[in-house]
Amino acid sequence: MDCLFCKIAAGEIPSTKVYEDDKILAFRDIQPMAPTHILVIPKEHIPSVDGITPENSHLVAHIFTQIPKIASAEGLVNGYRVISNCGSDAGQSVPHLHFHILGGRALTLEMA
Ligand code: 5GP
Ligand code: ZN
Repeated sequence: MDCLFCKIAAGEIPSTKVYEDDKILAFRDIQPMAPTHILVIPKEHIPSVDGITPENSHLVAHIFTQIPKIASAEGLVNGYRVISNCGSDAGQSVPHLHFHILGGRALTLEMA
């Protein structure tokens, strides 16, 4: 499949990995919006939040059990934000489910 994050998950396109196991990968965003900006993806292709199903939701649960550990390892002791853009109105630019972890400074309180 011609999917950027599938290629990153497969190691065909290099990334700066911060966490990896058999199901998920976390790597640094190429265009960071905060001092710490990490993307967490399932290795399995899920197009967006809209593609989460009872069959694959265990991957999302696994991602969310790892996010606090990743944040802690990054030293985000004062907190962080987790975002997933879904669809064009949200500005999703890569159609493979991903969760942004943003932190390292006080973030703007504007949500949208
Ligand atoms: P979205 O806009 O879909 O919510 O987030 C996609 C994110 O992927 C953007 O923040 C963008 O900077 C990041 N991104 C796009 N291409 C690459 C890439 O090749 N490598 C990495 N590490 N991040 C990428
Ligand atoms: Zn994909």
